Amino acid sequence: MAELADKGIFERRESAVRSYCRNLDAVLATGRGTVVWDVEGNEYLDFLAGAGALNYGHNDPDMQRSLIDYISGNGIAHGLDLHTDAKRAFLERFEEIVLAPRGMDYRVQFSGPTGANAMEAALKLARKATGRSNIVAFTRAFHGLSAGALALTGNSQLRGGPVNGLGNVSRLPYDGYLGGVVDSAELLAKMLADPSSGLDAPAAIVLETVQGEGGLNTASPRFLRRVAELAADHGALLIVDDIQAGCGRTGSFFSFEPAGIAPDIVALSKSLSGYGLPMSVLLIRPELDVWEPGEHTGTFRGNAHAFVTATATLEKFWTSDALMNDVARRSGLLTDRLTEIARRIPGAVLKGRGMMLGLETQPALAARIVQECIRGNLIIERAGPRDEVVKLLAPLTTLDEQLERGMEILSNSVDRALTSPFPISA
Ligand code: PLP
Repeated sequence: MAELADKGIFERRESAVRSYCRNLDAVLATGRGTVVWDVEGNEYLDFLAGAGALNYGHNDPDMQRSLIDYISGNGIAHGLDLHTDAKRAFLERFEEIVLAPRGMDYRVQFSGPTGANAMEAALKLARKATGRSNIVAFTRAFHGLSAGALALTGNSQLRGGPVNGLGNVSRLPYDGYLGGVVDSAELLAKMLADPSSGLDAPAAIVLETVQGEGGLNTASPRFLRRVAELAADHGALLIVDDIQAGCGRTGSFFSFEPAGIAPDIVALSKSLSGYGLPMSVLLIRPELDVWEPGEHTGTFRGNAHAFVTATATLEKFWTSDALMNDVARRSGLLTDRLTEIARRIPGAVLKGRGMMLGLETQPALAARIVQECIRGNLIIERAGPRDEVVKLLAPLTTLDEQLERGMEILSNSVDRALTSPFPISA
């Protein structure tokens, strides 16, 4: 029998591709809200939160209860795309709580369970609906790692290796990529309008409103509105990938709400089930739902357990403004503390929006800060093209005192990282 904290089996049997576990040298066992415990009983604050899949923390008691009740009542666990009671409840509540109050009319496509599955479906549908093949994606975008989604993703380490078929994508600069010198939306406008620009008429323009993995770059409402207008003018669909920035992370259910745009297709995943269970959907403007029955299938499109917790999530958190008011306050608290911490790091920049925030610094320093945080039992990660952004994705439900404690650990970690005499490994 292995020792509780023995990690031998992971090193012996798990593929070298594993990544997050290389930073946190612990075997996790339990979690509640923002706190997780390892097998030896050590307690950690989890500001990684499943890379955005745990916006409501670990094991929310109401979601847990609804899932236990469903399972003990022999509720269907797997249903392909057959009608199930659990799917009906989810669709009804999604229509009533999310779509109707926002005046939105979207069809819901259940894609395979991951974000990348949703993006693959979005690309295929956009190409089918428009009869075009080219897609516009932006610098530092991250849309997943299956072939189509990877073609949209900017990161060269992820794109590298003997991968086939990353074509049919035109890359343009995201908002702010060229500093204040070039207006990225106007560059796109010029290239779309110029028959000799070399930009093939796109089936879709795909973007994140806040680039999570790309380093917490934010698009301004003006940029988003201009891109939406350009897509409409040029017969391209606007696809918003709200897989990480959606489900309340930036302060509203959909991250694009403050910009007042109406995307043709929206991808949601990560925190949609509320409980960390795999679930992805596409929201499709009804006229664009041109699929033939069974044209895009998949075995795991009916994760009924995820439907159950997603329904519980909507009922608990999205029938009042309470959570979004908390997120606004908590975002303010984090922003104040991060601004103060950033002042102590030469050249550091505060990035992001809502509760999707980070500090950009030197890659090696960011690595050291994260190592120190983890030593202080605060789980966080890095993002950006060189992993130079210390990224905070605390659950939206994190208590104020837990946020304060996390910021205290971060602050001390920054001091230690800045004064460390040891060489830093990035
Ligand atoms: N799109 C965005 C914006 C993401 O952040 C991610 C994952 O981090 C994905 C797509 C891919 O999701 P998945 O890892 O579930 O395939």
